[in-house]
Amino acid sequence: MDQTGALDALLHEERVFRPLPQMVIEANLNPHELEQAQEQANRDFLSYWEDAAHELDWFKKWDQVLDDSNAPHYRWFPGARCNIVYNALDRHIETANKNKLALIWEGEPGDQRKYTYYELYREVNRFANALRSLGVAKGDRVVLYMPLLPETTIAMLAVAKIGAVHSMIYGGFSAKVLRERINDAKAKLVVTADGFYRNGRVVNLKQIVDEALLGACAECVETCVVVHRANVDAEMHEPRDLWYEDLVRRERPSSPTEVMDADDPLFLLYSSGTTGKPKGIVHSHAGYMVGINRTLNWVFDLKPTDIFWCTADTGWITGHSYVIYGPLVAGTTTVMYEGHPLYPQADRLWDVVARYGVTILYTSPTLIRMLMRFGTQYPRQKDLSTLRLLGSVGEPINPEAWVWLHKHIGGAKCPIMDTWWQTETGMFMISPLPISPLKPGSVNKALPGVEADVVDREGNPVPAGKGGFLVIKKPWPAMMSGIDNDPERYENTYWKKIPGMYFAGDVARKDEDGYIWIQGRADDVLNIAGHRIGTAEVESALVAHRFVNEAAVIGIPDTIKGEVAKAFVILTDGWEAEYDTSEDLVSALKNHVRRELGPVAVLKSLEFRTTLPKTRSGKIMRRILKAEELGEDVGDTSTLEDLD
Ligand code: ATP
Ligand code: MG
Repeated sequence: MDQTGALDALLHEERVFRPLPQMVIEANLNPHELEQAQEQANRDFLSYWEDAAHELDWFKKWDQVLDDSNAPHYRWFPGARCNIVYNALDRHIETANKNKLALIWEGEPGDQRKYTYYELYREVNRFANALRSLGVAKGDRVVLYMPLLPETTIAMLAVAKIGAVHSMIYGGFSAKVLRERINDAKAKLVVTADGFYRNGRVVNLKQIVDEALLGACAECVETCVVVHRANVDAEMHEPRDLWYEDLVRRERPSSPTEVMDADDPLFLLYSSGTTGKPKGIVHSHAGYMVGINRTLNWVFDLKPTDIFWCTADTGWITGHSYVIYGPLVAGTTTVMYEGHPLYPQADRLWDVVARYGVTILYTSPTLIRMLMRFGTQYPRQKDLSTLRLLGSVGEPINPEAWVWLHKHIGGAKCPIMDTWWQTETGMFMISPLPISPLKPGSVNKALPGVEADVVDREGNPVPAGKGGFLVIKKPWPAMMSGIDNDPERYENTYWKKIPGMYFAGDVARKDEDGYIWIQGRADDVLNIAGHRIGTAEVESALVAHRFVNEAAVIGIPDTIKGEVAKAFVILTDGWEAEYDTSEDLVSALKNHVRRELGPVAVLKSLEFRTTLPKTRSGKIMRRILKAEELGEDVGDTSTLEDLD
């Protein structure tokens, strides 16, 4: 960045949506309480997080809230003993939650399974016993290569219950990725399924596992447990492969919960790989459970009657923190859907919401934009009146998509919680609360107990309205405990770029009201004739045009301007009726961007595409577009979405 470290702020979004009075009256956290929480967190953030920790059950309380003697290798709640699964299941069995629905699962073909807390507890115990009988012990690594099944939840919790460490690999990754990650983790056991349903087809998962295990390291994987799901002809290799159902049938439904030290690892999970090779992030029991419990309860304002649906895959951090662990620790009912959002047609999401009476829907901008293509015909046919809160995560949500979601899905009454966070942060960091005035496209402000800022390269705050690097200035409980086996990469990636602060890798700006706007990835910043521009604002301006459904912008070297911007655009149907040629449309789009953002954001060229390269978690991989454009090596593409 330049001397001031500033990025140009281009987007002028002035709409403000205030919460309805009823929402403010009913919110778990009213404005006065929020002010008190902020005040406490500012004065003494450790006491703030200590209070949050008291909401959970511990085998032994901590000696200290935070040990920062070896910063940036922070240790939260040292001396404490606990297990997140005790909080997600065991403790609920002693309360009125015992017979409450913990999990509602729906398969793509339409089959359903529901588990009360007590039923889920018993299933987890059975599988925990099975794991122990297979020789899996505290500290061992278990790879879960699973689609979205009830057994995925059960396996995760069972592994954690016995003190082992899970590494969940998204069920769409190739044998090569799976093998690498099995080897990296030195996993002893793999849990998978024979197959699963996706977009009307059956994916043969077991075959991929077989291929992966062929070349896996010798001392790894002794056992592969296979869940029956899709009746594919799975080849079972004796004595390595065992059917899940055969294993659990003979196990007792009670099982001791391992007592863990606060910073014993809970799971290993790879980041999405949007900006480069995925990083193996490690989270541990104590801080993680404190962080996700507090943030979920506050941001999504959980009530005893809520039906919470986060549409993320369990292979991502969002699935870990807010499909499985968060909702269960908080004692709510979580919904899980196996299949494709457009199967059998583009109303599946709305159908699931209507049938189960979903009250909170947490999803991603990429999915919203995909569904917007179909207009409002589908949501209009369903009863979405049970919804009271909406949420977005994963990428900047452009104001157009925000307003569409608010109006057509939320009936203009549901606030949208645009939550900014990362695999590394484990929990929501910057987000509105249901009582906050909302600005479409802004992630609002840091949550109490989190100190976020926008700074230049030296760490000085940049003035309001200017862009800079997004940083976190104090440790937070759900922070990663590190990168697997690589303390140096942990220090260099996150703590050395701007000394003394956590470098998030995103660029952002704060407006006059202190609202934070994510402008894109630090790696993707454009530099056009001395102007530094984040990609998100240009993309957002493009998507605001009614014939643009998705857009990705990159910078390409230019001898005069240093760099020029190129856009890749997915069009919506119907533009031919308005423009004679595609050249006419191109110049209309260029003019549109200039009008929206000013002359700085001039687009040199524009290319139409039918798809954009995305990670499996739905994020646009601009680095691939750029490498292709420049004829360079595209680097690690292991997490690229399969487009067939
Ligand atoms: P990698 O770190 O491997 O390149 P990744 O950053 O995409 O992959 P994740 O941890 O899944 O991996 O994603 C976190 C990133 O997602 C954030 O750094 C940010 O860029 C983006 N993000 C998440 N939520 C939001 C949001 N609400 N608004 C804008 N961007 C968001
Ligand atoms: Mg990242």
